[in-house]
Amino acid sequence: MKTIGLIGGMSWESTANYYRYINEGVKKRLGGLHSAKVAIKSVDFAPIAELQALGDWQKMACMLGEEAQDLERAGADFILIGTNTMHLVFDEVAAHVKVPLVHIADAVAQQLQRDGITKVGLLGTKFTMQKPFYKKRLKDLFDIDVLVPAPSDQDTVHDVIYNELCVGETLPKSKQAYIDIITRLKVQGAQAVILGCTEIALLVNNGDTTLPLYDTTEVHAEKAVELSLA
Ligand code: GLU
Repeated sequence: MKTIGLIGGMSWESTANYYRYINEGVKKRLGGLHSAKVAIKSVDFAPIAELQALGDWQKMACMLGEEAQDLERAGADFILIGTNTMHLVFDEVAAHVKVPLVHIADAVAQQLQRDGITKVGLLGTKFTMQKPFYKKRLKDLFDIDVLVPAPSDQDTVHDVIYNELCVGETLPKSKQAYIDIITRLKVQGAQAVILGCTEIALLVNNGDTTLPLYDTTEVHAEKAVELSLA
């Protein structure tokens, strides 16, 4: 079994789910007392969120690059960045280490392709919904078209992530707002929706809407299990 490295803490609420999904995945495949070999470096999210707001991505790339180096020294065979947003500096973080990084958008795109989905809605932070790093990767590498919510809906999605989900709050009114936004993405032509922020599945999940939802935390964790046992 290979050792999974995870840069976590963004937020810790979703890192807890990564840890659970990874261990459940290994147990499901190997049974008995088996559990995953995982090294986690969990950061303090507050300074990261401040740097995001300031737009200092270079500094964050160095910070996460150092976390990745710690994981490599700890024996990680490959590394996950446990947040969609911070994939904005994926290449820069990857350049800090010899072991590979596993891209969260690639993991979800592979599942979308498997399921025959070619037009997908994307929910996430404004960085993920607005900057090209995520949408362009899905289009260029997987030929998947990405739809994002209208600007005022993007504000709602973003604010709920930082003000509620990342501090452990799930409010019924926010859940309804997300369901309404997903319905509007369906009207725009989305065949499914990527929960492209690792906390969103704490609020909405399959069964809450008529569109299939792809939880990036679960999909990324599942990919890690597959690679760990390959
Ligand atoms: N965990 C979130 C994501 O997947 C948001 C927190 C962050 O900005 O890293 O994008």
